[in-house]
Amino acid sequence: MNKAKKVIVIGAGIGSLGTAALLSKRGYDVTIVEKNETLGGRANIFTAEGYTFDMGPSWYLMPDIFENFYKLVDEDINEHLDIVRLSPSYRVFFPGDDEIPVLDMESDLEKDLPTLEKLEPGVTPRMRKYLERSKKQYGIAQQHFMHRNYNSVWDFLKWEIAKEGRNMNPLQTMEKYLNKWFKDERLKKILEYTLVFLGSAPSKTPALYNVMNHVDFGMGVFYPRGGIYTIIESFKKMNEKFGTTIRTSAPVKKIIVENNYATGVELDNGEFLKADYVVSNADMWFTETKMLDEKDQTFPEKYWEKSTMAPTAFIMYLGLNGQTPNLTHHNLRFCKDWKQNFVEIFDTPQLPSDPSYYVCKPTHTDKNIAPDGQDILFVLVPLPYEINPTEEEKKSYRDKIINMMKSDLDLPNLEEMINYERSYWGDDFSKDYNAYKGNALGGQAHTLKQTLLRPKNFSKKVKNLYYAGAGTNPGIGVPTSLISSQLAYKRIEGIKHPHPLTDLDG
Ligand SMILES: Cc1cc2nc3c(=O)[nH]c(=O)nc-3n(C[C@H](O)[C@H](O)[C@H](O)COP(=O)(O)OP(=O)(O)OC[C@H]3O[C@@H](n4cnc5c(N)ncnc54)[C@H](O)[C@@H]3O)c2cc1C
Repeated sequence: MNKAKKVIVIGAGIGSLGTAALLSKRGYDVTIVEKNETLGGRANIFTAEGYTFDMGPSWYLMPDIFENFYKLVDEDINEHLDIVRLSPSYRVFFPGDDEIPVLDMESDLEKDLPTLEKLEPGVTPRMRKYLERSKKQYGIAQQHFMHRNYNSVWDFLKWEIAKEGRNMNPLQTMEKYLNKWFKDERLKKILEYTLVFLGSAPSKTPALYNVMNHVDFGMGVFYPRGGIYTIIESFKKMNEKFGTTIRTSAPVKKIIVENNYATGVELDNGEFLKADYVVSNADMWFTETKMLDEKDQTFPEKYWEKSTMAPTAFIMYLGLNGQTPNLTHHNLRFCKDWKQNFVEIFDTPQLPSDPSYYVCKPTHTDKNIAPDGQDILFVLVPLPYEINPTEEEKKSYRDKIINMMKSDLDLPNLEEMINYERSYWGDDFSKDYNAYKGNALGGQAHTLKQTLLRPKNFSKKVKNLYYAGAGTNPGIGVPTSLISSQLAYKRIEGIKHPHPLTDLDG
């Protein structure tokens, strides 16, 4: 290790903040340069009229990954975050289903089994077996895959990795795998909805993402009181304590490369910042095609044209002048024609006709983020990233979703309750985060090909350029982006050990 080497980290998403904290703690001279005024990237925040809105992530999952990170930098997570476990974990709405229109899931099998039995009588022994398997697979993924830096796809084929890999059912799709275990369509929807977090469809996602059901049923759903942005504030505090320099409103224009080495970055204002290493947390497409000359690009424009990105989203941030007692913290509205919804998102891109959507009501758990007696709703509808709706189409889609919510969620006075409203679309993701074609989640969808061949976290052309964030391994999500920061750290420190870091020496 060479201390006081200069590292420039481009962007200030969670992957950046994690990488910078690890390197600063280790003694590197780290500067984060972020284009926006705020830190956090997609885990952004805004306040308006007394309401505080988390703009992006709302599900705090995989608490083990967060706990491990804080231990790595010798910090006590409980001094930084006030984490509460949600009960219920989430509520599911099946509009039009006379038998079971609404149900709650607890991420506690003994409590959940009676609910699941109502959906599919006799499911208990199968469900237990299925979740045992999912738990085992989560262990394998942690031990052999998620925390490992791969240099090429051939690494996957090494004997011991291939042996463990077979237990992950990589060549089957989630849809086919779940069909073998379960019959009830509603139950399968519950077991498939987590794939939306990965920006993929059940018919295209490999069954190795079965691990997500252990995350959901086995580990639980949590919330940091004060909101997801408290995670970002905590990472800011840690970075400041370890000596990271943080610069906001400082967009990077170019990575300067000489003889296959990055010598630093040039900001939009013409300023040059020297570096021994550059780590980019900006979307990979933007870094590769806009910040590098063609000769230095590992992933040129034509690579991205052939990629399937994660979907974009239509989001509404609503401040209500009253409360919505029939909603809990996380609420999922599942459409009837599940497959058609995915077809409209991935195969025949269009505004989905009968979309599944998600409503978060953080005020269920946290009263301090809105005026007394008022609710905040964050409404998210996954959409294909290729479409560019006109202002008129946006307005009428907004009305459609509000009308659906009125009847699906039994909120007849919703329109009259709206005190504050802001809408957010794909073009906002492009403008705010330099996202490729407005994709929401920061990277490619987790199809089999794009899981095995996901862009590696190093440039093949520029020897001291690395990547951290959702676009590289292991992929989309806050905890996974945090793992990506450990992988970038391992690259720079030359640590080859494949397992989760337990201390900064690997
Ligand atoms: C609406 C929504 C809901 C989500 N829900 C969840 C959830 O519930 N749970 C979960 O775990 N995950 C969720 N995700 C996914 C998760 O938020 C992302 O995968 C993760 O935050 C991505 O982090 P990242 O490290 O890749 O950086 P990003 O957040 O993508 O940040 C990249 C940063 O780079 C900056 N940048 C870009 N260009 C430049 C430039 N030229 N110069 C300087 N800086 C630049 C951007 O401004 C941005 O700040 C959600 C995402 C969205 C959008």
